[in-house]
Amino acid sequence: MFDLNYYGTEDELKAETPSLPDLCHKCGRCCRSATTFHSYKKLKELVEAGDKEAIDFLEVFEPYDSIEDARQVEPDQVEQVLKAVADREDMDVNEVTFYHCRYVSPEGLCTIYERRPRCCREAPGHGWSVMPPGCGFEGWQFEQREKQKRMIRDLKTSAYIMEQLSPDGVHHPVRPETTLADLNALVLEKIKPWKMFGSHYW
Ligand code: SF4
Ligand code: SF4
Repeated sequence: MFDLNYYGTEDELKAETPSLPDLCHKCGRCCRSATTFHSYKKLKELVEAGDKEAIDFLEVFEPYDSIEDARQVEPDQVEQVLKAVADREDMDVNEVTFYHCRYVSPEGLCTIYERRPRCCREAPGHGWSVMPPGCGFEGWQFEQREKQKRMIRDLKTSAYIMEQLSPDGVHHPVRPETTLADLNALVLEKIKPWKMFGSHYW
């Protein structure tokens, strides 16, 4: 499959992901070990600036005093997240904060289910979010990641073929104003955002 409309951004990633099946088995582990892309300091700044996502998040989630405190509650998830953050160039492991929800019951149930925030309604959102080991979405996330990896591999194959066909920029047969070299550059641009998930290894 070769889709030139595919951009691979976070929004596109969500758009590429089908609606969530009902696979949660209500263990509450993700509610006790949440993290965000932004640091806690940045989240508070966003709240000051009126950002609704940040306001909703900090309305339900309370930060642990330390990573060690979070580790006492969800050790496997803390290790997974720290490893994932260490692998990313756009995040700093020293700025990671873990949060626990004020509304999760001791049994792991949501006590504000009908008015839970969007981040909870949409979790895990896509295949690349780091969910606790044993999460009911594990298999579904694996399928999504494999589907998207296949798509990137197809794009890489197309880019390679175009390089071979058009080392000096031969014109595209259907769109003569466009060279194959232009199309190749477009494909490579679309692959770039996936680097954060390790697409250079696929
Ligand atoms: S960790 Fe997975 S299975 Fe458990 S509550 Fe969260 S989404 Fe549901
Ligand atoms: S609001 Fe409900 S679903 Fe969201 S983290 Fe809290 S307990 Fe979990």
